[in-house]
Amino acid sequence: MNQKVLVYFKKIPLTAWIFIGIFLGLLSGIFLGQSILPLATVVGDLFLRLLKMIIVPLIFTSITSGVLGIGDSKNLGRLGLKTMLYYMASSLLAILTGLFLVNLIQPGKNADITLSANPDADSLAVGSLQDLLYRIIPTNPISSMVNSEILPIIFFCIILGIFISRLNGSYKTLLTDFFYAGFEVMMNITHFIILFAPLGVFGLVAKITATTGLEIFQSLGLYFITVVIGLLWHYSINLPLMIIILAKENPLTHLKNMSVALLTAFTTSSSSATLPLTMECAEKKAGISNKISSFVLPLGATVNMDGTALYECVAAMFIAQVYGIELSITAQFTVVVTALLASIGAAGIPMAGLVMMSIVLKAVGLPLEGIGMILAVDRILDMLRTSTNVWSDSCGTLIIAKSEKELAKPGKDEKRIFE
Ligand code: ASP
Repeated sequence: MNQKVLVYFKKIPLTAWIFIGIFLGLLSGIFLGQSILPLATVVGDLFLRLLKMIIVPLIFTSITSGVLGIGDSKNLGRLGLKTMLYYMASSLLAILTGLFLVNLIQPGKNADITLSANPDADSLAVGSLQDLLYRIIPTNPISSMVNSEILPIIFFCIILGIFISRLNGSYKTLLTDFFYAGFEVMMNITHFIILFAPLGVFGLVAKITATTGLEIFQSLGLYFITVVIGLLWHYSINLPLMIIILAKENPLTHLKNMSVALLTAFTTSSSSATLPLTMECAEKKAGISNKISSFVLPLGATVNMDGTALYECVAAMFIAQVYGIELSITAQFTVVVTALLASIGAAGIPMAGLVMMSIVLKAVGLPLEGIGMILAVDRILDMLRTSTNVWSDSCGTLIIAKSEKELAKPGKDEKRIFE
C-alpha cells in the first residue's frame, strides 16, 4: 500500500476505527441481512474469545499485584471501604432513578402484552441469597479459575496478596516480582487484543442487526423507553455529577478517555470481557495509577453494575404493573434492596441481569413468567446497561484515585498510547 495512505490510516484514532466498525456492522446487518451471519459470527466470536482468554490471568495477576502495591492492610482497608461505599452509593442512585421513572411513566399500566416466550422458570432460578454469599469463598480456587468464576478468584487473590506482603526477604521479592511481571505481560497482551476491536465490534453489531427485528418494540416500547431514559439519565447526569462533586474533574474528558472501553462494553454486552480494555483506558489514557485501577476495576466489573441494578428495578415494577399487582411502599423497598443484591450477584456476561431477575421477582412474589415477557428487548437493553456498568466502574476509579492522590496530571506524566 502507498506509504502516504498508510501513514494517514495510522493517524486515525482507535475510537474512530471502532465507530467505523459499528457503522459498517449496522449497514451490513440491515442491507445484507442473514447472509452476513457466517462472517459476522466468526469475526465477533473470535474477538470475544480473545478477550475471554485474557480475563482470568489478568484478574489473577492484577488483583494480587494491586493488593501488593497498596501496601499495608490499613491502606487496603481504606481503599476497600471507599470502593464499596462508591459502588453501593452509585448503584442505589441508579435504582432510585429507575424507581422514580417507572412510577412516573407507568409503562406496564395499559400495555397490550401476550406472553411471547415462557422460559423454564427452574432454569432461571439462581438460588438463595445465602448461596450468593457462599459463592464468594471458593472451595477450590483452581476450579474457580477453570470455570471463570470471578468473585471467588478475587477473594482468593486478595488473601494471596495480603499474605505475600507479610512474607520477608527473598520469598517476598520473588513472588512480588512474579505477580508484577505477570500483570505487565497480561496488559501487553491486552494491548495487542485491542487492535482487533474494530473488526470484533463490526462482527458483533452486524450479527445483532441481522437477527433483531423491529416488531419486538411494539408492545414493549414504553418499557424499553423507560429503561433507556433511566440509563441515559444515570449515564449523563448522575455519574458526571459524582465526578464533578467528588473528584472535581471534567466528566467529558473522562468519557473521551474511556470511550474505547465503553464502546466495547456496548457491543459485547459483557463487563468481564471488557475489563482488559477498561483497565488499559483507565491507566494509559485517564492517567489512573495501576495501584488503584488494578484493584478497583476488576472488583467493579463483577460487583458494581448500576445499569443492571436500574434495569432490575424497572423490569420488576413493569411486570407488576402488567399483571395489575399493586406494590406497596414496603414491597417497593424490597425491590430496591433485591435489585441491588441481584446486580452485585450478576456475572459480567451477556444476559446475566435477565437471569438474576428471578431473585427480585421471587422476593416480592411476582410471577417468574414475567421474565419471558421482557426477553424480546433484552439484547439491546443489555448493551446499554453494560456500557453504563463499565462507565460507573471507571467513574468510581477516577473518584477514588483522585482522593488517594493517584491520578496523573493530564499532559504531563500521562501516557497516551491509542492516539
Ligand atoms: N451484561 C451485563 C454486564 O456484563 C450484565 C447484565 O446482564 O445486566 O455488565
